[in-house]
Amino acid sequence: MAYDPDNVFAKILRGEIPCKKVYEDDFALAFHDIAPQAPVHVLVIPKGAYVSLDDFTQEAPDALIAGFVRALGKVARQLGLDDTGYRLLANTGRDGGQEVPHLHVHLFGGRMLGRMLAKAD
Ligand code: 5GP
Repeated sequence: MAYDPDNVFAKILRGEIPCKKVYEDDFALAFHDIAPQAPVHVLVIPKGAYVSLDDFTQEAPDALIAGFVRALGKVARQLGLDDTGYRLLANTGRDGGQEVPHLHVHLFGGRMLGRMLAKAD
C-alpha cells in the first residue's frame, strides 16, 4: 500500500491540523487521541512516511526504529505510567483494524486495562 501524504496524521506532523502534543523529538511525535478509550490514551507516531508497522520494520532506517522505540518509553515515563503500567497497541492492516494509514502506536494507561483482546463477535 502506497503512503497517502494526505492522511490525518501526516497533516498533524506538518502542523496543518492541531493536536494536543505530549512529546516530540527527532524521531517521534506523541499526542492525545481525539477519542480516548482510557484515562490516558496517547498516540505515538514516527517522523517519516510509513503506512504501518509492517512498512516501518521493512523500510525505516535503524536509527529511526531505535529512536521511535525509545520515544515510546520516554512518553510512558513522562506520563508517569512506568510505575503503574500501560499497554501499547499498533493496529496493523485490515484484520488489525487500522484506520489511519500512518504508523501509530496507541499508549493506554491510568486504569486496569484487563486481559488482552475483547472476544470477537
Ligand atoms: P487505528 O484504528 O487506526 O489504530 O486508530 C486511529 C486512532 O486515531 C483512533 O483512536 C482515533 O480516535 C484517532 N484519531 C483519528 N483522527 C484523529 C485526529 O484528527 N486527531 C487525533 N488526536 N486523533 C485522531
